Amino acid sequence: MSEKRTEISELGEFALIDHLNESIKIKNASTLKGIGDDAAVIDSGETVKVVTTDLLLEGVHFDLSYAPLHHVGFKAVAVNVSDVAAMNAIPKQITVSIALSNRFSVEAVDALYAGINAAAEHYGVDVIGGDTTASHSGLVISITAIGEAKKEQISYRSGAKVNDIVCVTGDLGAALVGLQILEREKQVFIANPDMKPQLENFTYVTGRQLKPDARMDIIHEMRDLEIVPSSMIDISDGLASELFHICKSSGVGVTIYEDKLPIDKQTFDTAVELGLDPITCVLNGGEDYELLFTIDQKDYEKLEKHPDIHFIGHVTNAEEGKYLVTKSGTTAQLKAQGWKHF
Ligand SMILES: [Mg+2]
Repeated sequence: MSEKRTEISELGEFALIDHLNESIKIKNASTLKGIGDDAAVIDSGETVKVVTTDLLLEGVHFDLSYAPLHHVGFKAVAVNVSDVAAMNAIPKQITVSIALSNRFSVEAVDALYAGINAAAEHYGVDVIGGDTTASHSGLVISITAIGEAKKEQISYRSGAKVNDIVCVTGDLGAALVGLQILEREKQVFIANPDMKPQLENFTYVTGRQLKPDARMDIIHEMRDLEIVPSSMIDISDGLASELFHICKSSGVGVTIYEDKLPIDKQTFDTAVELGLDPITCVLNGGEDYELLFTIDQKDYEKLEKHPDIHFIGHVTNAEEGKYLVTKSGTTAQLKAQGWKHF
């Protein structure tokens, strides 16, 4: 008898999550949101808590041949804080678990923790626990972040409404382009160890890949302006993929405009140098950790002049679909290629 075998790559990451979620039943009334957003939401009396966790593996999520341990530690915290930010909550605590092979010295662990502690300081979170264990295959880091907000402040992926304005922070595509540069210079180095990596002209894009910053600044500013985004998600897998998540959860469509998409000049020039289409990098590049959110039109005036928030389109009816209006005025269906881990 042959057993059925389905390859995980056939499903992909998101379908795998949906598949696993099917077997989970929520039992506690305090579980306000389980799987299916940037973080879970738990009723906690006066406030709600949000909880998110990420697992980072050497060789899959980071490459220590070019990523300094300090940066790896910082980034491991930042990506979790980014998911707390995406719920419109304030991060308060993290737990840090690591698995190490005997390749790592105490000094190496100290360097990793220096990065973790620097991020904890930067985001105002306390390291409250974790676990350490042995690993047979390099470094593994798992961080769980806990954040806090009032119930009515939480932004789910599911709240986008027709005619809401689609907003994005910062600029996009840089982390992907930075990764391509780091990989290119690594290959040059492998081929000829006497060659020094040429990274001087690429500090912005490589910095965006190695040491992203979660946009807590934007969350605090929106609090001061009394804006609660109708929906929000952080951009870890690429703008198009995140737009698909919001559209699916909210039951809406979207139209975005190519000429409104934010891209840094160095990202644009480097993409061209690498033979990549800059707009494809913006739409499908992962790991920028910027925020994608929707706001009611009445809030537009409050953000209109913000130097780091870009208004890239609007929410439509689901039947209208998901579209990109190009610079030449043609309309193209959006495709979510995303960032494939499998
Ligand atoms: Mg996220």
